[in-house]
Amino acid sequence: MQISRKKYLCTLCETEVFKETNHYNEIYSKCKKCKNDILICIEDNALNKRKELEDSNNIAFKRIIFYNYNVELDKDYDEYQKLVTHLYSKNYKCFSCFDMKTFRWNYLKEKHNNSIMIYKPNTFKNQYIGLGIRLHDWYERITFNSKLKIGYYLED
Ligand SMILES: [Zn+2]
Repeated sequence: MQISRKKYLCTLCETEVFKETNHYNEIYSKCKKCKNDILICIEDNALNKRKELEDSNNIAFKRIIFYNYNVELDKDYDEYQKLVTHLYSKNYKCFSCFDMKTFRWNYLKEKHNNSIMIYKPNTFKNQYIGLGIRLHDWYERITFNSKLKIGYYLED
């Protein structure tokens, strides 16, 4: 596809910008107004494509549950152990990484604190594609303080 000027929307603060791209998907480019860097295309073609996807029944909704424990504290330790047992019982594998891009976190928490729509639910085993973002069954941030357990998991 040819490169052309297209209208994009910041997924957090909803500022509109124009970008030169050769497709109608999301792009990872810094918003001028906020720290977010997931921009979605809002040209008619892009909106129609998303509408088609949503109408195709190839979507699912998951609840997204955030957690934040300090396992040095007895209460948090117990709750975290319970959570991990629960997630292993669902055969979830923890996806952990250094979260250099906290915007994703902000984006998820601010925009999807409750439920999130997933496109093509069966594409990958432990991963899903949501609007503008890749999601995991169970995600945990690697922190410099290993006592801090910060992450999210998905439930049907
Ligand atoms: Zn923004």
